Amino acid sequence: MNAAAIPSEIVQSPLDRLKITEIFLSLQGEADAAGWPTVFVRLTGCPLRCQYCDTAYAFHGGTWWEIEDILAEVARHGVRHVCVTGGEPLAQKRCIGLLQRLCDAGLDVSLETSGALDIGAVDPRVSRVLDIKTPGSAEEHRNRWENLPLLTARDQVKFVLCSRADYEWARELVLREALHQRCMVLFSPSKSEVTPRELADWIVADRLPVRFQMQLHKLLWNDEPGR
Ligand code: SF4
Repeated sequence: MNAAAIPSEIVQSPLDRLKITEIFLSLQGEADAAGWPTVFVRLTGCPLRCQYCDTAYAFHGGTWWEIEDILAEVARHGVRHVCVTGGEPLAQKRCIGLLQRLCDAGLDVSLETSGALDIGAVDPRVSRVLDIKTPGSAEEHRNRWENLPLLTARDQVKFVLCSRADYEWARELVLREALHQRCMVLFSPSKSEVTPRELADWIVADRLPVRFQMQLHKLLWNDEPGR
């Protein structure tokens, strides 16, 4: 699977618009902004196929939205936090402009990205939550390692761990690259592959400088779309 799997008119729309799967209000379920009421803007399309993906419904379909209309819909919900997610939001070139406009509107903006695409053009006011794909994801080869030197204290890196071998792979990477000195590092268990208790015990035993996280929205709403 490669980036060509997303139709070119979606990747590079000639108009100031984006293909959107859903815009909804919920609680942020993960990363540093966990627990805040947040508007989610879920962009359509992803060039990856992680084996544990829980948003495959965002791979196809969607509706074209003008950027002005997205801004108005976000504002209508009346909260300070907005999260641009997917799919892989950066697969649509116009995402960069949307992020800038959301920041200009005075919102607290985060971006959830697979780590496979260049994050260099993202507005520096955005908090980037960058996945690092482990071997157990089946998409390790998609990691864009050139992104790591671009991370700042505003950003976070996130590992979803599918096994003890994944945990050891991630531990080695964090320590070798000193990722924890660059930004917050988040470790999550892949549902039904590693138990939360197992992962918590491994982190504590190793005194690893990472933050364990459960996906709050899954505990509350059990993966319902739009939650
Ligand atoms: S990058 Fe995210 S949306 Fe894309 S396949 Fe992986 S988990 Fe699913």
